[in-house]
Amino acid sequence: MTVVSPEPVTEPQPRPGILTISPYVGGESKAGVERPIRLASNEGALGASPRAIEAYRALAGELHRYPDGGAGELRAAIARRHGLSADGIVCGAGSDELIQLLVKSYAGPGDEVLYSAHGFLIYGIAARSVGATPVAAPERDLKADVDALLARVTERTRLLFLANPNNPTGTYLTKAEVERLHGGLPGHVILVIDGAYAEYMSAADYSDGADLVDRSRNVVMTRTFSKIYGLSSLRLGWAYCPPAIADVLNRVRGPFNVSAAAQAAGVAAVEDTAFVEKVRQHNDVWRAWTEEALRGLGLVVHPSVTNFVLIDFAGIAGKDAESARQYLKARGILVRQVGSYGLPTCLRITIGTGEEMEATVAALRDYLQE
Ligand SMILES: *Cc1c(COP(=O)(O)O)cnc(C)c1O
Repeated sequence: MTVVSPEPVTEPQPRPGILTISPYVGGESKAGVERPIRLASNEGALGASPRAIEAYRALAGELHRYPDGGAGELRAAIARRHGLSADGIVCGAGSDELIQLLVKSYAGPGDEVLYSAHGFLIYGIAARSVGATPVAAPERDLKADVDALLARVTERTRLLFLANPNNPTGTYLTKAEVERLHGGLPGHVILVIDGAYAEYMSAADYSDGADLVDRSRNVVMTRTFSKIYGLSSLRLGWAYCPPAIADVLNRVRGPFNVSAAAQAAGVAAVEDTAFVEKVRQHNDVWRAWTEEALRGLGLVVHPSVTNFVLIDFAGIAGKDAESARQYLKARGILVRQVGSYGLPTCLRITIGTGEEMEATVAALRDYLQE
């Protein structure tokens, strides 16, 4: 008689927590028509700076060369443009990479990663991917709530992510509110201020947080070239860090994590301040126009300071976000469902070109009248 031993595990097993991740599903990019109107991913309405496109093209003959692993020219250009110390800047393949590296470096099993309830999905994904526990604090009026966040800080909290302004709610915390949040944090918690939409901001009471990085040892600001600069496809972002945190990121990042094409285009983009200003002005005009037009249709439009608006179908009899999204898609217009952000009655619509916004409002008018 043979003794049956327990079935050995015969398949590779991922680390605890990994299989609790719901994979990130980005905004749709295809609608079954040749040139859909793409308003689902907050991409740049006017594309990239012609100078960035030229710099990218100029690199075609150098594809066999490794990039500068330290992204020296790009960090210097960013530092000049923003008045920062280049030593504190670490570049990454999108700010997503930097967010993941921060979480991987500072959190692990048993640790907590804190963010606000309708915060960017990547924060929770990054936490789970290292076996840490994601903790979401409730918001007030679709805005991060400083007291609710501070109330959830424990000795196990390692990082607090604040997108400011936030995606997908389009709201922001003032400089004073962010400083109050930071002031309430114990020194072992890193406050990561994700400024993906900082370039769209003009409010006098707003700060991107760079000044707070300079004054603290536990604040990091992340930025991206994917939004106002229109370089999403190149995957380029940067973090501004205190020296000890920059040192950590430089140890864990891939040695050539930013392609030469991204670096060259990034330098040209950051120096083309006139283009950035043009995009910002375009966004101000068309966001205001879109918000007013959509309110005119009877929709609830949450006030936004970013390059997207969040509209709410709750309370509109016989209508809902998902059927509106399908209706728009059938007309070749792609917008973002935000159920995964805990906002199932809402849709997020990126501010595109003027014609794109007119087409979108016209389609929503038809949808509501059907
Ligand atoms: C779009 C976005 C990013 C940027 O991601 P990249 O990886 O740089 O393209 C980061 N944070 C928020 C809140 C965003 O909406």
